[in-house]
Amino acid sequence: LNILLVGAGGREHALAWAIAKSPLCETLFVAPGNPGTARHGENRPDLAISDHPAVVAFCKTHAIGLVVVGPEAPLVAGLVDDLQAAGIPAFGPTRAAAQLEGSKGFTKDLCAERSIPTAAFARFTECEPALAYLREQGAPIVVKADGLAAGKGVTVAETLEQAEDAVRAILDGAEGGALVIEECLFGEEASFFALCDGSRAIPLGTAQDHKRVHDGDRGPNTGGMGAYSPAAIVTPEIERTVMETIIAPTLRGMTDRGTPFSGILYAGLMLTEAGPKLIEYNTRFGDPEAQVLMPRLTGDLVPALLAAAKGDLSGVTIGFDPARAALTVVMAAEGYPGPVTRGSEIRGVEAAEAEGGAIVFQAGTRRDGDRLLADGGRVLAVTALGASVGQAQARAYAALDRIDWPEGFCRRDIGGRAVAREAG
Ligand code: ATP
Repeated sequence: LNILLVGAGGREHALAWAIAKSPLCETLFVAPGNPGTARHGENRPDLAISDHPAVVAFCKTHAIGLVVVGPEAPLVAGLVDDLQAAGIPAFGPTRAAAQLEGSKGFTKDLCAERSIPTAAFARFTECEPALAYLREQGAPIVVKADGLAAGKGVTVAETLEQAEDAVRAILDGAEGGALVIEECLFGEEASFFALCDGSRAIPLGTAQDHKRVHDGDRGPNTGGMGAYSPAAIVTPEIERTVMETIIAPTLRGMTDRGTPFSGILYAGLMLTEAGPKLIEYNTRFGDPEAQVLMPRLTGDLVPALLAAAKGDLSGVTIGFDPARAALTVVMAAEGYPGPVTRGSEIRGVEAAEAEGGAIVFQAGTRRDGDRLLADGGRVLAVTALGASVGQAQARAYAALDRIDWPEGFCRRDIGGRAVAREAG
């Protein structure tokens, strides 16, 4: 089977690593790819992913039997729709199904319709009714941009004033602005992954990540500074509840809308006293969550992705080694998540990988002859396995300390809460 993987981040390096291990995989192409994915397949930076006819033509020329789409943007742009229309099996949701990630309002409406546990909410496009609703509900309360105003993010407001400012920032003056106001939930957050074929879902593991840039969850939000799997707080009982009350009704709702969901459904959960509640969906693997999920896989990823792409997961057995935990620490360029300087040299990747079976997944890197250079904000994700999160953590930091990159930094407390919990 020839496979085309779309993307260029650490997540795609982890996917390429898992895909290339499959005996089914003959040739793996990665477009555009990065120096990490080049270790497992042939990078194709020449293939413009936004040019769907060109991607279809590439697939025909190279007899591609499966396309795996890593990031969100090509999903929302309808790449899977165009590949499927050309008869090429593609893993990932269609444009309509990717709305579960693309539109918070869409997902909240689906939750309301199917009684999926989530924060109570209301949607607004006008300022005054939104402000009136805020005053009625009181603080703390959560304000989220939706649709055209997206990108202005989420405000978890401690005071009414903060909430009002957030509403005005999204709706004042902006044509077509839209927002969701939500009840503030309390509890611990966890990420839950399910592999879906349109009607069936297989749980694919749990993780917890660290969004803030500095130790102790301080500083601005980032794409993620590290993660570990499993999230032990998601007990088998909670997993069953999530599958029954969140994932299954979502798939039924999507099928009934005529837009069945296939691909990875990544649920951001709040584990509240009243049970798990959905905060948001993503419609692809997380980054850096893929860097801890892939190493824990038992079984072959490729037949599972192919079966999902073809709409029939029955007979697929893929799971996770419960006795194996994984932890990844992201190394970012100084200044991240603000502006960073590119081009500093990274040494010691091989030394790090010689350390207890660690894997250095690459994201923002580029090759210059023999030299590996930093070429982005988040640059490396150093991953290790262990019998516990604590052991994986010790191994990941031992490997990371072999990397010689003075212009990079990382958090030193990834997995801290899980390790403390393991210690009892
Ligand atoms: P991202 O995709 O980067 O996680 P986003 O912009 O899609 O973020 P959400 O995931 O919906 O936004 O929310 C971001 C964060 O805000 C959540 O991870 C959570 O910490 C917090 N949050 C969101 N909704 C609520 C809520 N109802 N109650 C409490 N906290 C919330």
